[in-house]
Amino acid sequence: MSTAANKQSATRALPNPDPIRRVVQEIGVPAYRARQVLRWIYNRRAQSFDEMTDLPAELRTALAERIAVQPLKIVKMQTSQIDDTSKFLFELPDGNRIESVFLRDGRRKTACISTQVGCALACRFCATGKGGFIRDLSPAEIVHQVLAMERARERVTSIVFMGMGEALLNTDAVIGAIEILTSKDGLGLSSRRITVSTSGIVPGIKHLAESPVKVNLAWSLNSPFNDERSTLMPVNKRYPIEHVIEALKDYTAASGREVSVEYIVIKKLNMSRDHAEALAEIAGEIGAKVNLISCNPVEDGRFATPSPEDVVRFRNHVKAAGAFATIRFRRGRDIAAACGQLRARS
Ligand code: SF4
Repeated sequence: MSTAANKQSATRALPNPDPIRRVVQEIGVPAYRARQVLRWIYNRRAQSFDEMTDLPAELRTALAERIAVQPLKIVKMQTSQIDDTSKFLFELPDGNRIESVFLRDGRRKTACISTQVGCALACRFCATGKGGFIRDLSPAEIVHQVLAMERARERVTSIVFMGMGEALLNTDAVIGAIEILTSKDGLGLSSRRITVSTSGIVPGIKHLAESPVKVNLAWSLNSPFNDERSTLMPVNKRYPIEHVIEALKDYTAASGREVSVEYIVIKKLNMSRDHAEALAEIAGEIGAKVNLISCNPVEDGRFATPSPEDVVRFRNHVKAAGAFATIRFRRGRDIAAACGQLRARS
């Protein structure tokens, strides 16, 4: 994407549906006050209405009676002794709970955030999928995960939408959240530092391609064969591999952004030479690099973690077949950092 287009995304106004705008309207004060409040919350990271000193005191009191500056409550925060990863369990105002993760890699500080409470897609290797779907998160609830983690840890430099839920089954809210994250009145992050992960929801990919936000996409593939993938990820019956490939090619052409393929390596299941070759072929077709992730054992023990040597061997097969492949090592092994595990335990 051109620099001009980047600039455009950084100057776009904050989205309209934010509850603060509604409350400001209800109170009957001029609309520009909503923008001031939103700037205080998202850009200046205010922790209370008292800090918003350029707002009239009566307005601050009226707002404080109706809305919370920090709508997410930290129920649990666990930090890994091994790699400094922090896993958060948040409670939403309606009592539902979601998870988010803060990861540090040198100067890069990444927030891995959720987009739904639970998930309807029931991928067999996923703890979140086991609990079913409860509801979508709003744009504000998505962004407040980042703000809450920043308060507990440090300022975030990148965002991955890889927590609980299928982001592209809540595409409007995800787009709204990205607008807050990239707006100069919001968190002011570069959209190049934002990656949305999807299991391959074709209409969602198209919707994102047509939207004004341009971010990196990660496709969670996990098997290059339709039959096997449908067993692991039932969503594949609806959106088979070849349909997702076409949608991703269109996305790359429309956005100019990177697409990557995420591949959870499961012991004795999806790591043969045939898998490596078929995976490399798919990656080549969409011009994607491959990220290999060692399977996190889900607590019923059906999917086992391969040895590090096996993962390296598989990576070498993928590379020999012509794809660019890296291994992402599991983070937070000592703190149940796999998606949905902390919530399931609580
Ligand atoms: S892996 Fe992602 S899409 Fe699949 S069930 Fe878990 S949260 Fe949903």
